Amino acid sequence: METWKTGTVVKSTGSWYNVRLDDDTIVQCRIAGRFRLNGKKLTNPVAVGDRVKVEEDPREENVGAIKEILERRNHVIRQSPRRKHDLHLLASNVDQAMVVMTIISPNLKQGFIDRFLLMTEPFDIPALIVFNKSDLYGPEEMEIYDILREIYEGIGYRMLLVSAVDGQGIEELRSALKDKTTLICGQSGVGKSSLVNAIESGLGLRTQELSDYSGKGQHTTTFAEMFPLNFGGAIIDTPGIKSLSFNHLEPQDIAHNFRELFALSDQCKFADCLHRDEPKCAVKAAVDDGAVSELRYINYLTILEEVEEQNYWERN
Ligand code: GDP
Ligand code: ZN
Repeated sequence: METWKTGTVVKSTGSWYNVRLDDDTIVQCRIAGRFRLNGKKLTNPVAVGDRVKVEEDPREENVGAIKEILERRNHVIRQSPRRKHDLHLLASNVDQAMVVMTIISPNLKQGFIDRFLLMTEPFDIPALIVFNKSDLYGPEEMEIYDILREIYEGIGYRMLLVSAVDGQGIEELRSALKDKTTLICGQSGVGKSSLVNAIESGLGLRTQELSDYSGKGQHTTTFAEMFPLNFGGAIIDTPGIKSLSFNHLEPQDIAHNFRELFALSDQCKFADCLHRDEPKCAVKAAVDDGAVSELRYINYLTILEEVEEQNYWERN
């Protein structure tokens, strides 16, 4: 029985998983059995970053089946974009997560930062907010950058200003990534691929693949892929994300995972305060006197409403 080998999932297409065994062999795997997360269905039950046990196929070299997922240190999850009742695992066992943003070209979508942080916060995964395309920023964009930096550094997240084109901040980014496993997310067009190539040029093979190893030639989406960095550490690259939704979360989960709101919540009159219309709400008071960012608060309310609306339609 103990012919199973242990390895790390380094690529996921949803139907096939590449596992790098501890002896460095890559085995292409299917999943044997059913894996769920807290009773919810997953579009991809196994995540890049998972430590797994693999049974190799005696008839075919470098092919196998994932038999077991070892306990995860953490994971990053969102609502599946295609099936809203399912969950989509972006990665597991990461040391940190990074979101790539830009202020122009395309225009800033500030709310995306807060949605990204809603994925990293449940496991306290350190988050890095990287603004790319700094070469395009004039005084107006720099003013916006400084406002955002004040907000996010003020609540303990790190920000970096970089350019894949002129190299600003790239050395700093490399040292932030060194010797760590980092999940990288971003909406398409922000320059995530360019940035990854600026970090390490040999990695430039990540863009759209037309078929997977199964050889059937149909289009398969790569959910995520892990690349080792030659200066130490690894990145887990995800395809460009259109939007992030959270209908698997309860309103209280949203409130708990906006960290500066949570920090104030024990001063609210009601223990289960959602910081909306409740009397004697410490969060609303802090928004009013500017101690909590109004931008963050508005995003919080928007997500809360979204989640409640979806839950309402499900119950009725
Ligand atoms: P992705 O969809 O996030 O992977 O974005 P790409 O890396 O494909 O880049 C999208 C566009 O932005 C391309 O036209 C890039 O040349 C451009 N781009 C990427 N990084 C930068 C940057 O730092 N500065 C400028 N000016 N353009 C950039
Ligand atoms: Zn409150």
